[in-house]
Amino acid sequence: MNPFDDVVEPGFASLAVRAGQTRTHEGEHAEPIFLTSSFVFANAAEAAARFSTATGNIYSRFTNPTVRMFQERLAALEGGESCIATGSGMAAILATCMALLKSGDHIVSASAVFGTTISLFNQYLSKFGITVSYVQLSDLAAWEAAIRPETRLFYLETPSNPLMELADIQALADLAHAHDILLVVDNCFCTPALQQPFKLGADLVIHSGTKYLDGQGRCVGGAVVGDHQRVGTDIYGFLRTAGPSLSPFNAWVFLKGLETLHLRMRAHSEAALQLAQWLETQAAVERVYYPGLRSHPQHELAKRQQSGFGGIVSFELRGGQPAAWSLIDATRLISITANLGDTKSTITHPATTTHGRLTPSERERAGIREGLVRISVGLEDVADIQRDLEHGLCRLNG
Ligand SMILES: *Cc1c(COP(=O)(O)O)cnc(C)c1O
Repeated sequence: MNPFDDVVEPGFASLAVRAGQTRTHEGEHAEPIFLTSSFVFANAAEAAARFSTATGNIYSRFTNPTVRMFQERLAALEGGESCIATGSGMAAILATCMALLKSGDHIVSASAVFGTTISLFNQYLSKFGITVSYVQLSDLAAWEAAIRPETRLFYLETPSNPLMELADIQALADLAHAHDILLVVDNCFCTPALQQPFKLGADLVIHSGTKYLDGQGRCVGGAVVGDHQRVGTDIYGFLRTAGPSLSPFNAWVFLKGLETLHLRMRAHSEAALQLAQWLETQAAVERVYYPGLRSHPQHELAKRQQSGFGGIVSFELRGGQPAAWSLIDATRLISITANLGDTKSTITHPATTTHGRLTPSERERAGIREGLVRISVGLEDVADIQRDLEHGLCRLNG
């Protein structure tokens, strides 16, 4: 029985806890993990029927009940028709491109997207005759100018990493659709708890489940959400054939992660805003990048487009790289790691880690300066996070 049969518009929290679950004859309360690579059929005719339609349980490369529960729950939270889970966030991006593009097609991408996404585009898709142009995320005119007759996708993340720049999703969706282009949004930073790109006109939503969907730093995985044809048929077909599948165990971890997603995202956002406001008062800090601050140039857009400002705060120290490294090295609580979206706060120096492969001039153009520090604000007490940063800041504040 579907618990939402008689509910016109179930709330986000109810969907997060309940959507997608189907109970077995055992009457289990929590969702079970189906660690089985294959499934048995009652008879030869049933096997033939399932193979011919590729529906029902066949083989866990493309059909698994635990993975399906995660897919249905994430689709419900994003407000999409269909979801396909993948073995990583990168596999979700790859599957989307392989299923929907062909040689000769062109992508317009924001230049400020996850570094490995750029490597995927430039090193691998290019081998198959797919070209990519990069534009400034918030510059609508630049997106329009980059359109060619063979442009098939607009690709972006909002807010961007690490400078927290925003794209106006609705405006880009309108522009894309006027040219028969699909808008793909990597919704990793906000998650559907804070931003629902389909409501703003996006066609496909990509996730790295590794970040906030898990939210506790355990598993690598990803997903694509969208319509029945592109996701449920085309991308599903690629997954079935090429096999970048999500393990049922990881799907189960994400499924349970989704149950607390809205609570965690609210807590991350509240803590990040407090920390950002406090950082703005520090003498050693030149500038803070956080969409929840009134000083953020796109604060109004963030309020309109997002229901929270998220857990990532970046800031520029006046002392350049020596200051950034000494602040990072003085921490005892915050983890020094490039990962994000964890209950544990993490601290990173983008110029020498996530963006270290760029040349100095590329970094300059991307706005990643030597004094920039990024914090993924976890769920520790904000007072303790601040105290940990004070170890380094009190020296730098002078
Ligand atoms: C981490 C990340 C990815 C890649 O996801 P993996 O699960 O690491 O493959 C893609 N997009 C964004 C915005 C990310 O932060």
